[in-house]
Amino acid sequence: MARLIDGKQNAQQVIDEVAVDVKKFIESYKVTPCLAVVLVGEDPASQVYVRNKIKRAGEVGIRSIEHKLSAHCSQQELNALIQTLNTDPEVHGILVQLPLPKGLNEEEIIAAIDPAKDVDGFHPMNVGALSSGQANLIPCTPLGCMLMLKQVMPDLSGKKAVVIGRSNIVGKPMAALLLQANCTVTVVHSRTQNIKQICSQADILIAAIGRPEMVDADWVKPGATIIDVGINAIERDGKRKLVGDVNFAEVEKIAQAITPVPGGVGPMTIACLMKNTLTAAIAIEQAKLPLAS
Ligand code: NDP
Repeated sequence: MARLIDGKQNAQQVIDEVAVDVKKFIESYKVTPCLAVVLVGEDPASQVYVRNKIKRAGEVGIRSIEHKLSAHCSQQELNALIQTLNTDPEVHGILVQLPLPKGLNEEEIIAAIDPAKDVDGFHPMNVGALSSGQANLIPCTPLGCMLMLKQVMPDLSGKKAVVIGRSNIVGKPMAALLLQANCTVTVVHSRTQNIKQICSQADILIAAIGRPEMVDADWVKPGATIIDVGINAIERDGKRKLVGDVNFAEVEKIAQAITPVPGGVGPMTIACLMKNTLTAAIAIEQAKLPLAS
């Protein structure tokens, strides 16, 4: 049976570390790290995510400010709010909860955020920094996956890693991080041929697809480490249930280590958001200090 990679436990460890570092930060800079969370519209899932992020921020001592805009707000209104937050010296991190309601241009909004405050790591400048190995702010979900992976595989060098999915928020940054850790990386997607055969050669398999339990045991090399990013709500036996992109019951029989859903990547994503907010706050406050002569 595979070793379970416990996301809740890993997340708590990150949270505890961030809480200690937030205290040190406040002592050093005499300011409290501050995260501005922007929620547009009333999507129930987004409301839950935002609530959880704000709750976690409170636990680590990060101040959070929530800005709620109507689903009918204009691009200009949202842009104006971002500009206000960009120039607010008390705000260290800006998070716009995605997806945005139809009619709003996500790319434009992401690009409007000051890259130094972009705690999601989605701004084109941060994306470029990540692919050239110089990132300060790394997208939270892949960052969380890497932390969990390194816990069960401290040396990733030379391992064959396959990432299923090529989204900007998970698949692509995940591949960049694995490459940086000296893995041999393959990214597969909906147009890939022989996907099962490619996956079955992986020492590390990252599933970020959004298809319930698509990855079955015959996709997996015995002894592989599996990180399941997917979160899919399904109906089973008349009950609503959350499952990943991996058929956990079958794959855990042959994998070496595996993340569960729920309780795997999800909690780590929020913990890494707290980590990123502190990282941003440190860089911003350091930049305000006078240069040593
Ligand atoms: P996207 O829909 O943006 O991307 C999905 C990717 O999977 C695409 O690259 C797509 O290929 C690929 N894909 C879709 N169907 C297939 C298929 N049949 N075979 C091979 N590849 C396929 O999703 P995200 O990356 O945003 O999210 C992926 C999953 O992770 C979702 O379940 C989401 O809910 C979850 N998630 C979880 C987070 C967490 O904190 N745990 C955070 C973010 C996401 P193509 O590009 O060709 O269309």
